[in-house]
Amino acid sequence: MEETAGKKKKPRGKARLMAGKCIACGARCQMSCPADAIEMNERGEPIISPEKCIGCRKCVKVCPAAALEMHLTPEEEKLLAGMQAEAAEDGEEAAPEEAGAKTGIAAWQGVWVFVEQNDGTAHPVSWELLGVGRTLADDLGADLSAFVLGSNVKGLAEEAFGYGADKVYLIDDPILNHYRTPSYLHGSISLINKYKPEIVLMGATGLGRDLAGAVATALRTGLTADCTGLTIDKKMRLLEQTRPAFGGNIMATILTETCRPQMASVRPHVMPKPQFQPGKRGELFIESFQLPEDKISTRILEIQPLLTEGSINIAGANVIVSGGRGLLQAENFKMLQDLADLLGGVVGASRSAIDAGWMPHARQIGQTGKTVRPKLYIACAISGAIQHLVGMQDSDLIIAVNRDREAPIFEVAHYGIIGDLFEVIPALTRRLREIAKDHRSPNDNSDKVSGDKS
Ligand code: FAD
Repeated sequence: MEETAGKKKKPRGKARLMAGKCIACGARCQMSCPADAIEMNERGEPIISPEKCIGCRKCVKVCPAAALEMHLTPEEEKLLAGMQAEAAEDGEEAAPEEAGAKTGIAAWQGVWVFVEQNDGTAHPVSWELLGVGRTLADDLGADLSAFVLGSNVKGLAEEAFGYGADKVYLIDDPILNHYRTPSYLHGSISLINKYKPEIVLMGATGLGRDLAGAVATALRTGLTADCTGLTIDKKMRLLEQTRPAFGGNIMATILTETCRPQMASVRPHVMPKPQFQPGKRGELFIESFQLPEDKISTRILEIQPLLTEGSINIAGANVIVSGGRGLLQAENFKMLQDLADLLGGVVGASRSAIDAGWMPHARQIGQTGKTVRPKLYIACAISGAIQHLVGMQDSDLIIAVNRDREAPIFEVAHYGIIGDLFEVIPALTRRLREIAKDHRSPNDNSDKVSGDKS
């Protein structure tokens, strides 16, 4: 029995391996041990030296399979029971690890999606994340949950169930009426610390980027921003977070091995939106908001809507006609605008065209611009650099016009037209106008080709 300054020291126990549970993850326990107490056998399982183990629990915390536990000798167990009884008499609560709860990484379970909302309307990226979250949760054999913060937002819980959530955690409080980093941070981390999800996903919107960074910093965990792919390494129970790296020249897959939760953000339109299932129900957990207004450092004085360039929402457009360096000058984008108008679409651009000052930055598509997923994407004189492709390659139908038959854009295009855009685009526009004319009713003066007719 150890005593320090007249006070009994709590026995820490020794780490030991539970039979049949090690998944040979690659010696994470050995790497975490500060006492050099772990060696690996030929099967990649740890052999722990009880003499060297100092009971620090680090190996238990990093084990992804919860295969290690702390073991007490009968004498130490008796001592601990006595200390717990004394503590209970003094009215102290037992720490969760003493009460037998799961500890370390294994205590974090389930996939959570943040439902971003404005005035009670959810941002569509929230539902797109529930779609990919469903696959991740199924692969982990875990629950998919949504968490909603706001004022008068209970209806969003119902919507979240419809988009696939098994559970919804809701904090509905007037203080959360408008987004402010401190209040949303407080609400988010109070929920995450209480329920311990192993994965938290947020939209890479302006709000989501702000909140995700703040939450990850407060929880001292990793965050992979702007992921284009999310999968599960089933053996290790790890989230594989894929995103372009080194200027888009490689796709990197990033793991958060030793911290929880694993956090990732995904831009709107990168993941498909799941089908809404009317009437689907789940478990609703209503939590209260604990931070008083006078403890929040930010006040909202006025809200001014941000007008986008020409009020065009390029990321939400169904048809995009996009131009690149081959357009040669700003005036030539008029040709693309004519085609876009006929198809009920909008005009986008590659970064080269933006950098040349031919189109405003809000129209840029790609890694440092918008990610789009329209029904139809017409790429005109765009070579198809990877930084452009990551922003549009998931479009339903891609048509590329380029005079270089080797241009990489043809690798993602469903239809390719090899030719000079100054001939192809006017010819296409002319033909569509003829079709529109043929299908127009006598009272219809519009030029537009409807979705059904085109
Ligand atoms: P080019 O590559 O010069 O291609 C022009 C194409 O037009 C050629 O294929 C040519 O054959 C064709 N062409 C020329 N004249 C005609 C004609 N008359 N008729 C038919 N075809 C013709 N790029 C983006 O687009 N979006 C981004 O978000 C983005 N982010 C980036 C981030 C980083 C960190 C970096 C390093 C780069 C980024 N880029 C981005 C730039 C990207 O690497 C390319 O340089 C850019 O996409 C090229 O634009 P482009 O295809 O218009 O021009």
